[in-house]
Amino acid sequence: MAQVAADLIDVRKTFGPTVALDRVSLRAFEGEVHAIIGGNGSGKSTLAKVISGVLVPDQGQVSIFGKSATTPSESKALGIANVYQEVLVADECSVLDNLFLGSDGLFGTSEPHAVRYARAQEIMRDLLGFELDPDTIVGDLPLSIKQWITIARGMLTNPRVLILDESSAALDFEATERLFAKMRAMTAKGCAIFIVTHRIAELVRIADRATVLRDGISVGTLDKGEITEENILHLIAGPERERAQ
Ligand code: ADP
Ligand code: MG
Repeated sequence: MAQVAADLIDVRKTFGPTVALDRVSLRAFEGEVHAIIGGNGSGKSTLAKVISGVLVPDQGQVSIFGKSATTPSESKALGIANVYQEVLVADECSVLDNLFLGSDGLFGTSEPHAVRYARAQEIMRDLLGFELDPDTIVGDLPLSIKQWITIARGMLTNPRVLILDESSAALDFEATERLFAKMRAMTAKGCAIFIVTHRIAELVRIADRATVLRDGISVGTLDKGEITEENILHLIAGPERERAQ
């Protein structure tokens, strides 16, 4: 039996008067790609941040492999990496430095430079499909490469739980296929991956299970055999659309 990687029970998160998440419970297992889908503003990124410990819920519990974290650094220690929706890179720094840039400074600096350089070269080759010198200054690189850098940064921490928040937004079909192949290599080793997306076709291709959010509420989790465009659209739209038909 696969272990529970992430367990959320009855999570509520508000921002002033805005209820971003309410009564959200979900469970993701090791080795699975768990999609989080929903319309704009339905709470997906908030959920990603609650799972990764960046946001503390007002109510409810979040545990990762049975342990709960109360600070982002504790979450990191539990093996969580969150690739944020916003593409955050330091333009004036090299690809290499960006890859090892954590919220608390450069990580992996205990490794010799040559080792970090080789790791950077390898992961960028895998993801991009071509060589990129890790010493390149990020500055004017295209947005798609900047997005790859943020994805690679999350993957390089060897996470047990990886969250990709709209990480294919700047990627074309072929690039997204390379991302999915890399994700599969990670889940094969037991990593649980949350993929946050609003692209239903992508989700149908990659997800093992999918949780649908509507206005901050989880309206259902679909298993592999149930993940179809029709089922998802049905859940996203909700009863109002049903009534209107
Ligand atoms: P999604 O990622 O599904 O588009 P979000 O999780 O970003 O949705 O947002 C859910 C709701 O919470 C939205 O109404 C959004 O405006 C609000 N929200 C998210 N983050 C903040 C914040 N830091 N401060 C205030 N409101 C926020
Ligand atoms: Mg979002």
